[in-house]
Amino acid sequence: MTIATIDPRTGELVAEFAPHDASEVERRIAAAQSAFETLRETALDQRAQWMRHSADLLEADADAVAGLLTLEMGKPISQARAEVAKCAKAMRFYAERAEGFLADEPLADPSVVGARMATVVYEPLGVVLAVMPWNYPLWQVVRFAAPALMAGNAGLLKHASNVPQAALYLDTLFHRGGFPEGAFGALLIGSGAVEAVIRDPRVRAVTITGSEPAGRSVAATAGSEIKKSVTELGGSDPFIVMPSADLETAVATAVTARFTNNGQSCVCAKRFIVHADVFDEFVRRFSERVAALTMGDPADESVDVGPLATRAGRDELAELVDDAIAKGARVLVGGGVPDERGWFYPPTVLTDLSGDMRLVLEEAFGPVASVYRVADRDEAIRIANQTPFGLSSSVWTRDADEEDFFVLRLDAGAVFVNGMTVSFPELPFGGSKNSGYGRELAAQGMREFTNVKTVWKA
Ligand code: NAP
Repeated sequence: MTIATIDPRTGELVAEFAPHDASEVERRIAAAQSAFETLRETALDQRAQWMRHSADLLEADADAVAGLLTLEMGKPISQARAEVAKCAKAMRFYAERAEGFLADEPLADPSVVGARMATVVYEPLGVVLAVMPWNYPLWQVVRFAAPALMAGNAGLLKHASNVPQAALYLDTLFHRGGFPEGAFGALLIGSGAVEAVIRDPRVRAVTITGSEPAGRSVAATAGSEIKKSVTELGGSDPFIVMPSADLETAVATAVTARFTNNGQSCVCAKRFIVHADVFDEFVRRFSERVAALTMGDPADESVDVGPLATRAGRDELAELVDDAIAKGARVLVGGGVPDERGWFYPPTVLTDLSGDMRLVLEEAFGPVASVYRVADRDEAIRIANQTPFGLSSSVWTRDADEEDFFVLRLDAGAVFVNGMTVSFPELPFGGSKNSGYGRELAAQGMREFTNVKTVWKA
């Protein structure tokens, strides 16, 4: 895959970048290792000051950076601005909270382990490689980088090949903020060059956010080297609507939950599982709202849905929908690749799904909603849990007993009741099953890349 910015509105090449050769990769790994040795000796206060300054710089660059995200992957501009703001917030969150998250945890009574003093301390691991996707080119990286750097690690970024300018922006951001040179740097390399970086003895751990196949490959290499890995992979999140739900709010939220980021979020609601008692009304209102969404130039403030980020992604989505239609799915809105330039796919709603359709078990990474009719809560949970994924989930009900029923049984990294899935710095984020393992965000995410050291003193 070439490392290039290709405008998804038009399919035109904007800029191409030569991949880093072996000597440049070596130079960058060495710089990261050397920065780590400095960083681990710095006080948390100092790191917090650099992190806050980096957040200030990002905010000062907000318009230009947001424009870059829209150009490289087609995100609607207002959502690009929101992504920048969210990153700055998370950076400040970790600047403020790292000390508490990493505080020593002494045993109240060390005599129970025969010690004068016994405690747990959290130490940085060293250089951590981050293999990242294009869908939130800034946020995915920052939610790793902010806690990792605050913990005293150094980071190396292998970004998706279609967002090189976002990668190059991040390459300098933290150094501009005050972190030592090399503390966070980008490697312009293709996916084929990742294995050698993971195997480098100076690289101590890896985190990957991306598709299931990429996650398998990265995790297998890390496992063979006995290196820590965190995997944040695909999802096909259920959005369950029960008869007691506030239907109007559920429908309005369903549209945002499916079509935000042009439908290309790992935690987009992808499957709408609706009780038969409210199915027809849900479908009517949902379809009406989806049909009213505007598709077009993502730089235009009035546009709801831009193009998909890559041609391959658009074609794969079209294949999933065509397969479902050929096997009997009913198209309520949209469907079909439009006859225009760029990698557009219209907001689409499908129903009458059956188990032989790929769409039922695979991830639809784009603006396509599948709606299922269910007879009761047992059928809802069966369909919700039937995919290999388990990233997040959303359930709409005003019945307290039903809330407990779903919270207990949804096999996912998160359950949102009467709300759509959103990531917050304050809450851990990650999946179950093939959506991956490990957590990002909150204290749990920060501690993933630490050595939990037991200290025992006689
Ligand atoms: P992708 O094709 O898997 O790419 C993700 C990253 O992995 C890119 O940097 C890519 O590099 C690299 N990569 C791909 N194959 C690799 C391999 N065999 N070995 C090493 N690196 C490899 O995914 P994407 O299309 O960018 O992103 C969409 C997927 O990410 C969706 O499945 C989505 O659900 C998932 N996602 C998950 C989360 C989460 O938190 N769980 C968040 C966002 C996205 P190249 O670009 O050079 O190929």
